[in-house]
Amino acid sequence: MTPRGDDSAGTGAGTTTPPGWSVPAHEALRAGPGFDLAGMDRRGTPGFDGDKAQGRTAMAARGETLSELQEKLYAHGRTGGDRSVLLVLQGMDTAGKGGVVRHVLGMVDPQGVSLRAFGPPTPQEAAQHYLERIRAALPAPGRIGVFDRSHYEDVLVVRVENLVPRSEWKGRYDEIVAFEEEVAARGTVVVKVMLTVSYEEQAARLRERLERPEKHWKYNPGDIDARLRWDDYQEAYQAVLDRTSTDEAPWYVVPADRKWFARLAVTELLVEALEGLGLDWPEVHLDVETELARLDATAR
Ligand code: AMP
Ligand code: MG
Repeated sequence: MTPRGDDSAGTGAGTTTPPGWSVPAHEALRAGPGFDLAGMDRRGTPGFDGDKAQGRTAMAARGETLSELQEKLYAHGRTGGDRSVLLVLQGMDTAGKGGVVRHVLGMVDPQGVSLRAFGPPTPQEAAQHYLERIRAALPAPGRIGVFDRSHYEDVLVVRVENLVPRSEWKGRYDEIVAFEEEVAARGTVVVKVMLTVSYEEQAARLRERLERPEKHWKYNPGDIDARLRWDDYQEAYQAVLDRTSTDEAPWYVVPADRKWFARLAVTELLVEALEGLGLDWPEVHLDVETELARLDATAR
């Protein structure tokens, strides 16, 4: 992979590869055809050459950019624009989905973010098509929507735990691809992030949750049951990559054993997605002279 020039498509005009990155994150992390999840180094930092301290510095700097781009997106939405961004976060328990929400989305104005976490469907949700609750949670124009888990659970936990028969879930991959195409066609940039923690690191994080009383609230005995089916989950995640990584809605696979890298990588992916929109401050037709005169006239 070679670093891309200034005017490459997708990152918007005038952008350059940021400090520390040898390749833009969306190139370094994208799951292309034949991507092998099992062979990936989960402690790796693909595309980024720096260490943890450099990662932290890079993240803070890019956080400012992210925040400004998010404000532009919000302004665009407030002035009739139809663009939005949807960040889909998937990963095994302890992969760091919550940390990404806190540390990455925490750098932007919460007003512009719509966050939705998906757990097991409620009885009402279960009575509907599985994509109904997803549609209802799609971001409005101008927003960054964040899904902490998503419709992908309907081909992950559902497949591994046989919650519906294979005959029912096997058609869902194509259905999801078509759904995401439709979402993208309506102006939403879909950024799908698979946070990928290793088996060993998951054990360490679960142990920490058990050993530290202030982390007990995060511990769910069911996490061990899911861990017992690790290989089945990896196979189901691989199938997701094989069947649903499209140009309209690509998957980015982010090694997550180093939390600082996962957070930096998602920051970068969001910055690149927002830059790709090429938005500027909206042109508002305002008679500034008149308004200033009116303001002056209020002087006491
Ligand atoms: P957490 O993200 O740790 O709060 O856990 C949410 C739980 O909800 C996970 O165990 C998911 O597997 C489960 N979940 C999410 N979506 C679905 C779904 N469509 N069907 C069944 N379980 C789900
Ligand atoms: Mg959990």
